[in-house]
Amino acid sequence: MSRRPQARIDTAALLHNLQRVRDTAPAAKILAVLKANAYGHGLLKVAETLKDANAFGVARIDEALLLRAGGVVKPIVLLEGFFHADELPQVVASNLQIVVHHPSQVDAILQAQLDAPVQVWLKLDSGMHRLGLLPDEFADAYQQLKQSPNVIKPMRLMTHFSCADELENPATAQQMQQFFNSTEGLDGELCLANSAGVFAWPQSHGNWVRPGLALYGVSPLEDGDAAALQLRPVMTFCSSVIAIRAVQAGDKVGYGGSWTATKPTHLAVVAIGYGDGYPRNAGNYCEVLINGKRYPIVGRVSMDMTTIDIGDDPISQGDEVVLWGQGLPVEEIAAKVQTIPYELLCNITSRVEMHYL
Ligand SMILES: *Cc1c(COP(=O)(O)O)cnc(C)c1O
Repeated sequence: MSRRPQARIDTAALLHNLQRVRDTAPAAKILAVLKANAYGHGLLKVAETLKDANAFGVARIDEALLLRAGGVVKPIVLLEGFFHADELPQVVASNLQIVVHHPSQVDAILQAQLDAPVQVWLKLDSGMHRLGLLPDEFADAYQQLKQSPNVIKPMRLMTHFSCADELENPATAQQMQQFFNSTEGLDGELCLANSAGVFAWPQSHGNWVRPGLALYGVSPLEDGDAAALQLRPVMTFCSSVIAIRAVQAGDKVGYGGSWTATKPTHLAVVAIGYGDGYPRNAGNYCEVLINGKRYPIVGRVSMDMTTIDIGDDPISQGDEVVLWGQGLPVEEIAAKVQTIPYELLCNITSRVEMHYL
């Protein structure tokens, strides 16, 4: 077995989670979100596994072109649309679909000379105030685009939630109300829900859902538990022990000597660090799994190595160390280092070996 840091990707779990989304939103088509290298899981491999999704969503055109170059023929939606009018010919040539969220994009489409019409997902800002046409711009944009030969009819109509992970937050119901008001009487399939919408807000399912995180087996809900949603973690992030050493009471460990042994013990040095995408501030806070048992990280996480207090347990060089995965949810690590699982997953760096099971 490789001694280098690796991310094992359980493709059966990925398929299971897709099915969980289907079962939870049975009337909706699934736009599987694969941006940021499929949340660190590998863009093309994830796309190849999720054959049964109805479409793929990415953030940027280069991600879409990588999918096309890899032979993916399924519909691909650019979730932020095009950034400049000069990308439109490429959008058409690669048969991409575009989110239109800004009046300048509407103008660019109306003025463009395109070889073929494009599928537009017209986006309403229903309260997140990041991307989207304002309610008083929406109907106008819709009517203008509807007249344009550059646009496939009917368009699709979408919005994005800001707080769907918070079950008590009234913002989501307000956003839904705004969206249903603004789209009333307009022709087109509706798309609102991210992963949290899928699992927490059934009224938001519409004609299409747009899950990302849940597909990777991570709970999209605040303080959520993936197992309770019957989601299975897809990634196991692991490495191995490269040295074992004894330390004495009073010995300080690692950069800054931030941990001091209070009694004689043993340390396992693991080949993992922030250069692999493991968070530096996990030092002295998080645990790892070795042979199924939890052990604490002691001292700082360095670029390539991390030290674990293993006491007198019989752990050897070469033993596998799990940073997150089955038995040690990435949700738990994220909470301890005060971030979200999304960030940890997509921070995995290119020197981590990817393995697909
Ligand atoms: C990233 C993204 C999603 C997926 O969100 P999850 O919380 O990962 O399910 C859906 N829609 C848009 C517009 C996005 O940018």
